[in-house]
Amino acid sequence: MALTAIKGFNDILPGEVEKWQHIEMTARRVFSLYGFDEIRVPIMEKTELFARSIGDVTDIVEKEMYSFTDKGDNRVTLRPEGTAGVMRSLIENKLYAADSVNKLYYMGPMFRYERPQKGRYRQFHQIGAEITGVADPKVDAQVLTMLRHLFAELGIHEPTLEINSLGCPDCRPAYRELLKDFLRGKLSDLCDDCRRRFDTNPLRALDCKAAGCKEATAGAPAMLDHLCTPCDEHFAAVKRFLESVGTEYRLNSRMVRGLDYYTRTTFELVTGLLGSQSAVAAGGRYDGLIADLGGPSLPGIGFAMGVERLALLLEGDKFRVTPDLFIVALDEESQGVAFKVMCDLQRHGVSVEIDYEGKSMKSQMRRADKLSCRFTLIIGETERAAGTAPLKEMATGRQVDVALDAVPIKEALGI
Ligand code: ATP
Ligand code: MG
Repeated sequence: MALTAIKGFNDILPGEVEKWQHIEMTARRVFSLYGFDEIRVPIMEKTELFARSIGDVTDIVEKEMYSFTDKGDNRVTLRPEGTAGVMRSLIENKLYAADSVNKLYYMGPMFRYERPQKGRYRQFHQIGAEITGVADPKVDAQVLTMLRHLFAELGIHEPTLEINSLGCPDCRPAYRELLKDFLRGKLSDLCDDCRRRFDTNPLRALDCKAAGCKEATAGAPAMLDHLCTPCDEHFAAVKRFLESVGTEYRLNSRMVRGLDYYTRTTFELVTGLLGSQSAVAAGGRYDGLIADLGGPSLPGIGFAMGVERLALLLEGDKFRVTPDLFIVALDEESQGVAFKVMCDLQRHGVSVEIDYEGKSMKSQMRRADKLSCRFTLIIGETERAAGTAPLKEMATGRQVDVALDAVPIKEALGI
């Protein structure tokens, strides 16, 4: 049997990986501009951490987790998302004691047992950021504004920012009952999942993609109309601050999010370009999570972006780095000179390729072209004798003679 990768687990190959590097480097740059520090937490945690934070009656915990018992009889899980581990670490290392506000970002693989399709995999990657310690609505607006800024820097302008408020433990229970009353007569129209979750997590029916659920929930009461006064004021302030800095958004009162820990502001960046995998980034406030996990009572807010989906939105191969120079050598002795000049140039920060197989001039030129080298330098017997060689800019055909030494060549390349 041929050895292949596990279904839903992908290789990220050269040609594609440059997009990932662009996404990661841009995210690091923007996060650092907004005062975030990187945190690296394990990719495996005790199963209980996810059950307690994400919630028992969620798709993730009910059916998507990679959980197993290790050789020491411990129940462990490959992380399905990043926030739980980061909050576990914040509590365990008392990061909140050193500074009342913590701004942290992370990036790395996540694991969910889902049905693989375009934009949905079993090992996927997230880049996420979290701010803990402040409940102020300006922080919500700041996080959303940073997210839009990051997308603009990435060169992805299409997605729409949708926001909602899920209320808090004071107002959500009453709304849940209201929604249940509304849905009770339509239970037979709901999909199996939503019917099963009717008692424990009825809100999920609001953003369920099944046609019956969409129809049954049309005209359902909206959380936004039933927020308690503090939640209502908070949400109004978030919108006001977003508007004050020109961060565009759209209200989506049906957005529920698939994790139990969210309170108040929730949001998604959605695109029409990826079929049903429409969310490229998502997040929200989680004011009760840190206390639920045994930490102090601290509010928090954060988001995660799916790197695979971002990469799908980035067109073309413009992120590929191409060599500066290809040195063509016409005989064996020239190959030695080309090798030496190449090594000198590389030590001077110039990226250079040569041929190692004694190929013809024509075939070396073809390879220079294939690699999209910006310049070629041709060395033969005459050039060795003269100590200079023709340097040609591929795009323009312009040619100059340069001394066969790293410094003058580097200068001629304009590097
Ligand atoms: P969806 O509704 O598409 O299942 P989700 O609500 O489960 O998304 P989150 O848990 O909020 O997603 O994760 C944040 C982001 O991570 C998503 O917006 C998406 O870009 C990405 N993501 C989530 N699950 C996957 C997956 N299985 N494969 C690839 N990317 C994913
Ligand atoms: Mg999901």
